[in-house]
Amino acid sequence: ARDIILSNNPSPDDDDPHLRPKRLSEMVGQRDVINRLEIAIDAAKQREEVLGHILFDGPPGLGKTTFATVIPAEMGVPVDFLSGPTLKAPKDLVPSLTNLRPSQVLFIDEIHRIPKAVEEYLYTAMEDFRIDMILGDGINARTHTFKLKPFTLIGATTRAGMLTGPLRDRFQIREHLGFYSLQELTEIIRRNANKLKIEIDDDAAIEIAERSRSTPRVANNRLRWVRDYAQSRADGKITVAVANKALEVAEIDKLGLDRQDRQYLDTLMRICLGGPTGIETIAATMNTATDTLSDEVEPFLLRSELILRTPRGRVATAKAYDHMKLPPPQPKEG
Ligand code: ATP
Repeated sequence: ARDIILSNNPSPDDDDPHLRPKRLSEMVGQRDVINRLEIAIDAAKQREEVLGHILFDGPPGLGKTTFATVIPAEMGVPVDFLSGPTLKAPKDLVPSLTNLRPSQVLFIDEIHRIPKAVEEYLYTAMEDFRIDMILGDGINARTHTFKLKPFTLIGATTRAGMLTGPLRDRFQIREHLGFYSLQELTEIIRRNANKLKIEIDDDAAIEIAERSRSTPRVANNRLRWVRDYAQSRADGKITVAVANKALEVAEIDKLGLDRQDRQYLDTLMRICLGGPTGIETIAATMNTATDTLSDEVEPFLLRSELILRTPRGRVATAKAYDHMKLPPPQPKEG
């Protein structure tokens, strides 16, 4: 299991180590969350205690991993990164616990995907910094208690609702990360254009922000694409005309929807006649995983009021018909 312990390395799926903020003060938005974290960090430092366990939830790309790199930096402690889906059996988790360094942070991404048998080790680890292991079997079986170094667990999940009560309750701090405002995304794009050493006009930064699904990771991806386009097809500077053209070539529309988003809407509106339709039906028709739709596609469509989630299934709104330029369904007779 050693190979899944990546001490002091950036997160395994870090696509842009250069753009990721390194300190809390470099982060844009999430003011209330940052404020509460600063208080907790400050108090823990003053008491020379380990920081309480923290759970972040929210759609992908809003900064969970960023917080998990910034918080240890503020505390001055190392961090190890683990991913829930790789922790299939206790042996995948236990070495990471027994090798902890004092006060360090252990980050577990997608923590809702840990099986129960593994999760149970976290209960005593989080509560008392110990784990109990049964060694030997039959009449020779003995419970051994291993004391762990005090540590901070940071968990990240796209589905807080899927966490079991006992696990959720062991996090002292629970924070929800919401979508970013247009102003915040524009600021992120301006700062990152600077880091990427590319010139960008203010209205171009706003245009890219408007089409970034209120999500910093998407903003970074769009910015990188527009930069490529500006260098390859224009004079290297990002003007609003260059940004518009680049996004058009990438098939990202005015609301920031990409091909997959539009395929979702098309499936729901044209094939499923506007719904109500179960997410499994939409996923099967699109030949996509249900999780991808519920974690990555739907949160922004819901927020944009293009779809509704009803007890009977997903429903397309009038705004969706308008956006996709499809005639709205006729009200049923009777
Ligand atoms: P996932 O759950 O998919 O791993 P995530 O919520 O962990 O997503 P991050 O990897 O933290 O998302 O964020 C994606 C990128 O967005 C970061 O690399 C960083 O560049 C940028 N970013 C996120 N939050 C902020 C922020 N508050 N300020 C500035 N940049 C941010």
